Amino acid sequence: MPERLVYAFTDGTAQMRELLGGKGANLAEMTRLGLPVPPGFTITTVACRDYYRSGGKLPQGLLDQVGAALQGLEAVTGKGFGDPANPLLVSVRSGAAVSMPGMMDTILNLGLNDATAEGLARLTQDRRFALDCYRRFIQMFSDVVMGLDLGRFEGILAKARAAEGVADDHQLSAGSLQGVVAGYLREVAAAGRKFPQDPLEQLRLAVEAVFRSWNTERAKVYRRSQRIPDDLGTAVNIQAMVFGNTGSDSGTGVVFTRDPSTGRPGIYGEFLVNAQGEDVVAGIRTPMPIAGMAEALPGSYLRLLDLCELLEEHYGDMQDIEFTVEGGQLFLLQTRTGKRTAAAALRLAVDFVSERRIEPEQALRRVDPAQLETVLHRGIDPQAKVNVVARGLPASPGAASGLAVFEADAAEARAAAGYKVILVRPETTPDDIHGIVAAQGVLTSRGGMTCHAAIVARHMGKPCVVGCDALVIDAGAGSCACGEVVVREGDLISIDGATGRVILGAVPLVEPELSEDYRVLLGWADAARGLGVRANADTPADALKARQFGAEGIGLCRTEHMFMAPDRLPVVQEMILAEDAAGRGKALARLLPMQRGDFEGILEAMDGLPVTIRLLDPPLHEFLPNAEELSLEIQELRHRGRPAAEVAQREALLKRVRALAEFNPMLGLRGCRLGLVYPEIYAMQARAVFAATVNLLKRGRDPQPEVMIPLVGMRTELEQTRDAILTVMRDVFDKAGVERHVPVGTMIELPRAALVADEIAELAEFFSYGTNDLTQTTFGFSRDDAEAKFMHRYLDLKLLSANPFATLDERGVGRLMLMGVELGRKARPGLKVGICGEHGGDPASIDFCHRIGLDYVSCSPYRVPVARLAAAQAKLKHG
Ligand code: PEP
Ligand code: MG
Repeated sequence: MPERLVYAFTDGTAQMRELLGGKGANLAEMTRLGLPVPPGFTITTVACRDYYRSGGKLPQGLLDQVGAALQGLEAVTGKGFGDPANPLLVSVRSGAAVSMPGMMDTILNLGLNDATAEGLARLTQDRRFALDCYRRFIQMFSDVVMGLDLGRFEGILAKARAAEGVADDHQLSAGSLQGVVAGYLREVAAAGRKFPQDPLEQLRLAVEAVFRSWNTERAKVYRRSQRIPDDLGTAVNIQAMVFGNTGSDSGTGVVFTRDPSTGRPGIYGEFLVNAQGEDVVAGIRTPMPIAGMAEALPGSYLRLLDLCELLEEHYGDMQDIEFTVEGGQLFLLQTRTGKRTAAAALRLAVDFVSERRIEPEQALRRVDPAQLETVLHRGIDPQAKVNVVARGLPASPGAASGLAVFEADAAEARAAAGYKVILVRPETTPDDIHGIVAAQGVLTSRGGMTCHAAIVARHMGKPCVVGCDALVIDAGAGSCACGEVVVREGDLISIDGATGRVILGAVPLVEPELSEDYRVLLGWADAARGLGVRANADTPADALKARQFGAEGIGLCRTEHMFMAPDRLPVVQEMILAEDAAGRGKALARLLPMQRGDFEGILEAMDGLPVTIRLLDPPLHEFLPNAEELSLEIQELRHRGRPAAEVAQREALLKRVRALAEFNPMLGLRGCRLGLVYPEIYAMQARAVFAATVNLLKRGRDPQPEVMIPLVGMRTELEQTRDAILTVMRDVFDKAGVERHVPVGTMIELPRAALVADEIAELAEFFSYGTNDLTQTTFGFSRDDAEAKFMHRYLDLKLLSANPFATLDERGVGRLMLMGVELGRKARPGLKVGICGEHGGDPASIDFCHRIGLDYVSCSPYRVPVARLAAAQAKLKHG
């Protein structure tokens, strides 16, 4: 038996999405439920994968199976494919297992040729309609299948509109459409191509084109941005056409069963009378809100409301539905889980539980942790005076400022050069995806709340304003006019995705209000998770923010950041430049009270919760000026005839900077090595920690410091460093009459530390994985060099499936971590182990940390909610 590659809608179910793609599986499910779905069939994703495996050949037997399915379709519709007397027309649409909105191709009205178009005109007694369908088909086919440039087609259509003095395509007469069709066919011929008149050939070419559309540049960019594997392939859905363009009792639209921006109950969507297919999604005409359908087509509207309720109930989630009304009869063309903003995701999850449609566990599984970061994003300060130059539709919340750019390529280029940009377009198409990825936000002059830009931006959590028709954009000239104001490429603008405002210049931002839904859902997450969640924070303000976001402690307080403050740096430099220990001692004595104040602040902000304070880690040259700049400065001073003493002082500094230079600072004199070579530095820091503790205890507070030693690779390093710290601890606490023990632990961020974790655990009271350095040293990659020079190439060549500095490399770095946990806990049962590298806020890495039994993850304050939810999901998944 040859493999089955084609399934009629009557043969599938929602569970078959891997085989039939999301669209195919849901069309089958709706058919099974007896809903009004035009009949059709699906070519499986297996066929698409075979197509690629064989280097672009349709799998054997596929066309026979398609032929048989077409016969079935002819039988149920009573029409004939290519039969001028009663032509069967079909749509050919892509549909992968994971949703990739608008990324792949669609062809409508397939089956039309000169003869069937005439037949359709006779049958419907509507020549205008038949020719409109034919010209749309030629246009889509020429674009998607033949790859012709549509610019010339648009020109022909524009000429026809001008000749007839009409504004919209649907006002064109039959006579003029006849001319348009002839013009299109001439264009195809002029390009040296022949427009196929045989419907079976049209279908074969269209199926291949949809397969190919899986691998267009825009689809690849989208998959990379969403981490969708490249080898899934797409299914192809072939469905009998229904027509939304037969007159004023027809139309087409998109409806969400609830508001995808806020999650509010009640349907939400858009509708166009007398229009076909992609007109709504493509943003070519700005449609009317769905409520307008209640007046235009009241019967179909009521039926649509019923079907929305039924589908939402059936799937137990908010649905995004495409429909067409043909001559007053409603048809469903697609349903899928609706993409939503983070705020809506929270509200929907919580509402569905309170409506008893799902359990809290399901609600937790349903929210994407990465999306949570966006609810914490800031909005425009309501008190601020802003220069609003236009208003559009608030399509995706959050505020963004950046340089205006008018082309996706320009957005990408400017972003690569380090600029923040706002992509401004009349509308976006899937070909603009790289520009959207690169931009901070998107602004369009056309389109509604469900146009391409709106859907993609919401999904990516980027601010977006659409349908801002006051903007007159001239992308070619690199400018846009808005009344009197002209914005040129590179001008700073801001958009407010919450209100639709377009603002000249940058805007002051304020912190978000956390909603009740957020609190409820994260409350469930906290109850469900096993991992603790801490934050990386170096200032009391950050610590307070982290605490507000739910952090249960500070997992990493990087003390070097405290040394960088403008009032500290000169003293730090004095300490580094000192000739001897006595000189260093003098500078350190001045740093001590400042550092003690820092620790008091942070311990007080986290009162009652643990704060892991890491002793100084970076190489000392990071605190000194750059040698080249210094050398230029000296030349300049000489040139200007400055006093010799001044020049000599800078020269001495340069000498010291040069003396401290290292070939590989990342592997040089840093971390505990620094503390062992200059023990006074760590002694000062330890004294500051313990003195801060004493001060807070005296004030009746409950400080919970933990001292952490960086970059330990050997037991001996830890032993000497720790002994020195314990000596200071005893000294400070004894003098103050305080009975306390502050845990002293270590980072595990070198492979050797993981390999000898048992030896290290004998002395360390806790471990914290520094996976930034552990990834660098395990791979032998310097992070900055790798990311600047070759990481993207490695990802393109699929040498790596993800950037190991963002998502933990489980097979290598992860194996070392597991070994470290096992060895460490063998030597010290119950050893507390956490992670404080960047990976501590990455959901996939958090899942791994849960599986290897870590006690907590620590991440930046804004990712704390992400980590709380990801930790709950890991527990629900693995137990
Ligand atoms: C680490 O290496 O993972 C770490 C947290 O330390 P830093 O990033 O400060 O080197
Ligand atoms: Mg480190």
